[in-house]
Amino acid sequence: MAQTLLALEPAALAEWVTSHGGQAFHAKIIRKEVLERGVLDYGEMTSLPADLRATLKADLPILSSTEATRTVARDKAIKVLLSFPARGGSVEMVHIPPPDKDDTRGATLCISTQVGCPVGCPFCASGLGGLERNLSADEILEQFVIGRSVGPIRRAVVMGMGEPLLNMEALNTALDAVHDEMGLGSRKITVSTVGFPDRLHKAARQKPRFELAISLHTADDTQRDALVPAMKGTSIESILAAGDDWFEQTGREITYEIALLGGENDTPWHAERLAERLNGRRCMVNLIPWNPSPGMSFSRPEAGTPEAFRDDLIARGLVATVRWSRGLDGDAACGQLRQRVKQS
Ligand code: SF4
Repeated sequence: MAQTLLALEPAALAEWVTSHGGQAFHAKIIRKEVLERGVLDYGEMTSLPADLRATLKADLPILSSTEATRTVARDKAIKVLLSFPARGGSVEMVHIPPPDKDDTRGATLCISTQVGCPVGCPFCASGLGGLERNLSADEILEQFVIGRSVGPIRRAVVMGMGEPLLNMEALNTALDAVHDEMGLGSRKITVSTVGFPDRLHKAARQKPRFELAISLHTADDTQRDALVPAMKGTSIESILAAGDDWFEQTGREITYEIALLGGENDTPWHAERLAERLNGRRCMVNLIPWNPSPGMSFSRPEAGTPEAFRDDLIARGLVATVRWSRGLDGDAACGQLRQRVKQS
């Protein structure tokens, strides 16, 4: 397997550069160009000697992935399917510009942590084929770098394909570089998980460099067992207790997410149960109306239902928002692009 730039730690890159006729400080320039500026062509790194640029170009590819497809939605969200020819598999990355075209603060980037997903939520295209493999730290970092090459980024959500808590070591390594070298602070990065309690307790004690969102989806234990099959038998109370522990350890509020499925978990009864569960907890609730996905029997909530659900939660003392997914016409729902390409 060919070595890539992003798979080399800074010290290893300095060694590579010096053993190929460059100076150690050239390694710093290269990482800065790639990580800070999103430059993906050595030819543009004009502060490097020409012969070093040529050597780098010939022997040290920056990325391990190739772009399989790119779709642009009407709202300008760009969805890229990246495939990894050497290690196998493909993942999705979405670059979502701010809704206001005069807003220059940059886009939100959505990245993946696994090829496929072992959790198997029945409403999600990413989990359809199960888990193929974990992404390595450099493959995760690569998505940030490609995202930055598309345009400025102001925040990132780890909400694409895969369950981040099941690949935490690689994610943490990638986020260290994102934080320290790309300048994206921990308040600007949100990791979304289905909330395995033991892993949350552990992660809370590792000085996490991200905000946490837990995909709860429902306050009813039996329904959650069906909606999040890999967590069957894990009580919602134990997940909420892990969330409380996270808040105590980190001092940061959690966001609870509900993918609203028409007629399934979006009724006033569900809103009431959720409010009872979260009562007295410092948290936010994000309601995400489900995106229709080919071959799935769920439906989008009826018009006005998400807002009514939100208002119900607010009336019961919670902080709640409806988040409509962006880029619907670009297959922006989790796992859809990869699924469509696999089927074609
Ligand atoms: S919703 Fe998330 S956790 Fe569930 S199958 Fe899809 S990617 Fe995995």
